[in-house]
Amino acid sequence: MKARAFDYRRVTSVTEALAAYAGCRGEARYLAGGQSLLPALNLRLDGPDLLIDIGRIDTLRGISVEGDALRIGALTRHAETLSSPLIVAHAPILTEAAAFMAHPAIRNLGTMGGSLALADPASELPACMRALGAVIEIAGPAGTRNVAADDYFRDLFETVLAPGELLSAVRVPLARPDIRMRFDEIARRRGDYAMVGLAAHLAFSGDVVETARLAFCSVGPTPMRAPAAESALAGRSLGPESIAAAKAALAADLAPDDDDALSAAARMHLARVLLGRVLSALGDGPQRAEAA
Ligand SMILES: Cc1cc2nc3c(=O)[nH]c(=O)nc-3n(C[C@H](O)[C@H](O)[C@H](O)COP(=O)(O)OP(=O)(O)OC[C@H]3O[C@@H](n4cnc5c(N)ncnc54)[C@H](O)[C@@H]3O)c2cc1C
Repeated sequence: MKARAFDYRRVTSVTEALAAYAGCRGEARYLAGGQSLLPALNLRLDGPDLLIDIGRIDTLRGISVEGDALRIGALTRHAETLSSPLIVAHAPILTEAAAFMAHPAIRNLGTMGGSLALADPASELPACMRALGAVIEIAGPAGTRNVAADDYFRDLFETVLAPGELLSAVRVPLARPDIRMRFDEIARRRGDYAMVGLAAHLAFSGDVVETARLAFCSVGPTPMRAPAAESALAGRSLGPESIAAAKAALAADLAPDDDDALSAAARMHLARVLLGRVLSALGDGPQRAEAA
């Protein structure tokens, strides 16, 4: 199958991109790495009148430390997320997650902004953003607005992005010595979308977990926080008892549906197994990225 005919426009600034979108008489889509959009066009799941290629907008590139946050431009490729020394140093969970994403050919083109704009609940990066407490930077006709990752994901493939708004960057708090973080997932084969994935971010006071942020992928319509499991960890040291309590609490957090790939019961079981695995690894000590 081939995509239906569309117009194509390459832009070099955010202002030009927003104007191109506003000026389109029909449906327009921004084109970043094209790794999700182009298959959707070819399968005729989507059929816009205009593609606005944002790939040459320099201001959407770059990874930098700004105050107490790491700012990652929307056009950051997954391959850069996997290899950037700044990300390894300051947000190693993203490096870990990127290693699970697809295959090198896709990682060489797919972008951070594309993944977060698409908001596939099976994707790794959206879950990481919720676990990290990231802020999403969004450019629109009225200027730039910042949205907490917890408020950004609305529903299945749905975010707070309004038509025409452009995701310009994401800001994640810098890692600190009292924080341990880890991403892991269970998939049928390396590179497949996860059956269950988990981004975990724990702040410690000595041996005691002060706050926990747990965000799962592939268990609901959005990346899912697990507040009951997080509460079961807070104020306790990380060991067999608190981990068992968190696993038991997970039933109150997640309610996956049966689907063609997996029953709800099997997915819940995998979520518990994964939670135990990730927390046990974090209990072993501070975690740095282990790029695969
Ligand atoms: C075979 C295969 C396997 C894959 N496996 C995985 C996987 O395991 N895990 C995973 O997470 N992903 C996976 N992907 C998806 C891949 O990571 C995509 O690259 C990513 O989800 C989208 O990024 P993109 O830059 O290609 O976006 P595009 O395909 O260009 O765009 C996707 C959507 O986002 C919009 N968009 C893009 N950028 C912006 C922006 N800055 N602001 C506003 N809207 C924007 C587009 O208009 C479009 O609607 C896979 C893809 C393929 C083809």
